[in-house]
Amino acid sequence: MKIRYFDHAATTYVKLEVLKEMLPYFRLNYGNPSSLYSIGRKSKKAIDIARKRVAEAINAKTKEIYFTSCGSESDNLAIKGVAYANKNKGKHIITSKIEHPAVLNTCKRLEEEGFEITYLNVDCKGRISIEELENAIKEDTILITIMFANNEIGTIEPIEEIGKIAKKHNIIFHTDCVQAIGNVKIDVKKFNIDLLSISAHKFYGPKGVGVLYVKESINFQKLQDGGHQEKDKRAGTENVAGIVGIGKAIELANLNLERYNKKLTFLKDYCINQIEKNFKNVKLNGSKINRLPGNINYSFSKINGEELLLKLDEYGICVSSGSACSSGNDSPSHVLKAIGVKEEYINGTIRITLGEENTKQDVDFLIRCLKEIIPKISK
Ligand SMILES: *Cc1c(COP(=O)(O)O)cnc(C)c1O
Repeated sequence: MKIRYFDHAATTYVKLEVLKEMLPYFRLNYGNPSSLYSIGRKSKKAIDIARKRVAEAINAKTKEIYFTSCGSESDNLAIKGVAYANKNKGKHIITSKIEHPAVLNTCKRLEEEGFEITYLNVDCKGRISIEELENAIKEDTILITIMFANNEIGTIEPIEEIGKIAKKHNIIFHTDCVQAIGNVKIDVKKFNIDLLSISAHKFYGPKGVGVLYVKESINFQKLQDGGHQEKDKRAGTENVAGIVGIGKAIELANLNLERYNKKLTFLKDYCINQIEKNFKNVKLNGSKINRLPGNINYSFSKINGEELLLKLDEYGICVSSGSACSSGNDSPSHVLKAIGVKEEYINGTIRITLGEENTKQDVDFLIRCLKEIIPKISK
């Protein structure tokens, strides 16, 4: 059966060009980048090139780029790293209610350790209020951490405005950019971003490698002790092939950004139109304007989203229900709760996230399947 994959916010395949650049570092140039002989130096050189590619893609300096094992690690290192290094200045952190668990649970941990966290509300489209943010700032606020774009409903936050507020009050600003990179042009200077997390497997790179950008002037504490890799901020022998992969993937993503964005926006708008034309009792979650180009998130009344997901799987279609991160645990998503999705809708949510290989024909097939399945599983 042909697989039609509509879950690019969960992960993507690795692009062939990316894989091709990675392969030599498994068996040919497998030297440890810390070793001084030639195959070690080759590994080090490959990391240097990847660091340059990442830095260029987000308008940072190479020395501001730290390689990690994933987006979750980048979020942990950013938030805990800044909190621990700046706790003499204050212990108050501002975040939002719709962050990824990698941010929310990190903040909860810090709360247990005596930090104070403000969780900002979002409006019915999933956006924070700049006014509420500014009102939440206190004398001892050391960090604002707000995601660039939400992984469930695709809402893009007012990052440039948040950056301005943070700068005005001299507060460090971190953003989880895992969903936005590759979809939206990222410029850390323009947006006044001090720390930024990304993960390769969300933009056609390999799993198990991420980046944390940290502005030169920002003080942060390492979380892992050991060797002196990554300027002594992240111990452990580098994932050379993975790092090569994220470097190539971000270069390609930036090169293709406009075309990719255009294609996904067209398909997304088409899919949204088709759903609204063919189904009653459906609600689009998130914003129509401030939205990632490939994100579609709908709640159907009197439907179980997980049941719908499994039925679609029988047709070779991969989508996600309310929240991929809580699948297997049926409490409704914190994001849908935060935007106020009503009881009768909240469990009937599916997320469709588009990618480069999807076509209009794929979307038509998806709509046909939905038309067949929905009446059968309506309660
Ligand atoms: C996927 C994701 C993460 C976690 O990234 P991993 O590399 O899977 O750890 C963090 N934040 C957001 C918004 C994500 O979508």
